[in-house]
Amino acid sequence: MMYRKMTEKRIKSLKSIASENNVITNVSDMEKYATDESPSLNYMPDAVITPENQQQVLEIVKYAVSEKFPLTPRGGGTSLTGGPLPVLGGAVLSFEKMNKIIDIDTSSRMAVLQPGVITGDLDREALKHGLFYPVNPASLDSCTIGGNTATAAGGANTVRYGTTRNYLAGMRAVDGSGRQWEAGGKIVKNSTDQQLLQLVAGSEGTLSLFTSLIFRLTERPVKSAWIIAPFKDINNIPDAAAKIFSLSVNPTMVELMDRRTLDCCRRYTGETIEFENCSHLLIRLDSEKYFSSSGFQDMIFAIGQACLATGAEDVLIADTAAQQEKIWKLRSSIHDAIKETCGSIFEEDVAVPTGQVRQLLLEAQELSASTGFKTAVYGHLGDGNIHINFTGRDAPPQKVRELKRRLFESAVKLGGKLSGEHGIGLTKKDYFSRYIDSAYIRLLKKVKKQFDPGNILNPGKIF
Ligand SMILES: Cc1cc2nc3c(=O)[nH]c(=O)nc-3n(C[C@H](O)[C@H](O)[C@H](O)COP(=O)(O)OP(=O)(O)OC[C@H]3O[C@@H](n4cnc5c(N)ncnc54)[C@H](O)[C@@H]3O)c2cc1C
Repeated sequence: MMYRKMTEKRIKSLKSIASENNVITNVSDMEKYATDESPSLNYMPDAVITPENQQQVLEIVKYAVSEKFPLTPRGGGTSLTGGPLPVLGGAVLSFEKMNKIIDIDTSSRMAVLQPGVITGDLDREALKHGLFYPVNPASLDSCTIGGNTATAAGGANTVRYGTTRNYLAGMRAVDGSGRQWEAGGKIVKNSTDQQLLQLVAGSEGTLSLFTSLIFRLTERPVKSAWIIAPFKDINNIPDAAAKIFSLSVNPTMVELMDRRTLDCCRRYTGETIEFENCSHLLIRLDSEKYFSSSGFQDMIFAIGQACLATGAEDVLIADTAAQQEKIWKLRSSIHDAIKETCGSIFEEDVAVPTGQVRQLLLEAQELSASTGFKTAVYGHLGDGNIHINFTGRDAPPQKVRELKRRLFESAVKLGGKLSGEHGIGLTKKDYFSRYIDSAYIRLLKKVKKQFDPGNILNPGKIF
C-alpha cells in the first residue's frame, strides 16, 4: 500500500477539521510522540492531531481515508511494543484531550469515559463513590483506559479480578472506513450479538478508534494483607504458588520478583529490602466487609505455612497502609529500576500455563547461561505471565533476534503465547507469523480488511 505524503495543504485541512490548536507539526513538540516505553525505537510523525471530541475523530478518519495517509492512535504512550509509533509515517492521533469521566452511574455500577482518561483516575473517581476499578497495570498513573482497551491490559490484580476485557461493557468507535459504530451498554450480561467489543479489545488500534468507553465497576475490598515470602531458590516459588491456589483463598496478587530485579529496585528507590539475597513471592489478600477477621487471619496463616513448606526462608506480613504502600512503590518501580540501573535490551511478557512457569524459569536461566546475557525476571506468577528482561546497555541486533526467538520458542513449546498483556505491536511482529497458526492469521487479516479496507489505522503492526 502506497501512502500519500503529509503536504501543507493536508495540514491546513486537518486544522480546519480539528482546529488550529489541535494539530502539531513542530518537530521539537512532536518528539515525545516519536517514542514509547520500548527501548531504542524512534519514529517521528508527520503531524500530531489531538482531537477534542467524537465528531472531530470521525471527520479526521474520513479525511485520512480520502487522502490515503496513516493514522496511529496514541493514549499515554506507555506501550512496551512500539504500538503507538507511526512506523509508516502519517499522523499520530493522540487522545490526550479526550480525558473526561462522563458519568459514574452508581445504581448500575458503570463508568462512562472518554478514552484518554488515565487509568488510575478512573479508580480514584470510583473510590469517591465507594466503588472499585480493579485493573491495575503498573503504569496506572500514565496509561489510559483507551490504550488499556486496545492492548487488553492486565495487571497485578488479574488473578482475582481479571483484565480490562472483563470490565469492558460498551463502546463507541470509528472504524478505518470512517464509519461510526456502537456496541454494548451499561449492561453486565449481553447475549444479543457476537460481541465485537471483545474482538476490538486487544486489536492495538488496528481495527477502530475508541471514542467513548463503558466500564463495569465492582465492590471495593475493605481490608488487605500483603505477604512476602523470600526463597533462596527461585525455582521453588511456582510450587509455593500452586500450594497457595490449592487452599481456595482467592488471592488478589501472586507476584514473583527475582533477586536481580529486587537489587535493581533497591538501588533505584534507595529503599531497604529484607532478604535481599533471595527471590520474593508476593501475595496480596483482600477481604470484603463482612468477612470475619479470624477467617482472614486463618488464610494468612495457611499461606505462610504453604510458603514455609515449599522452601521459604521466612514469611513477612505487611498489614499497615504504610508498609503496603512501600511494597507497591517497589513493585511499580520495577520497569524504570531495571532500565536505569542495569539497562534493558528488551523485556518480553510471555504467557504460559501456570503449571509450566517452573519450566519457563529453568529455560530462561539456561538461555542466560548459554548466551552470557544476564536477566531480571519478575511478573504475574499467578497468571503464568512472566516478564523476562535481558539486561545490558547494548547488544548486536542479530543476538537480540536470537534471544527473542529462543525465548518465544520455549514459551510456545510449553503451550504459551508471545504476550500476556503488552501486545504484539512492532517489536514482536516478526515472531507473530512464525508462532501463530497461519489459518488463524488469514482470518485475522480478513477481519482487518472488513474494519479497515484501506489499511489506514495503525499500519505496520501485529502482522
Ligand atoms: C512501567 C510500566 C509498567 C507497565 N505495566 C503493565 C501492566 O502491569 N500490565 C499491562 O498490561 N501493561 C503494562 N505496561 C504496558 C502499557 O502500560 C500498557 O500496554 C497500556 O495498556 C498502554 O496504554 P497507553 O494509554 O499508554 O497506550 P499507548 O501506549 O499510547 O498505546 C497502546 C496501543 O493502544 C492503541 N490505542 C491507544 N488509544 C487508543 C484508542 N483510543 N483507540 C484505539 N487504539 C488506541 C495504540 O495505537 C497502541 O497500539 C506497562 C508499561 C510500563 C512503562
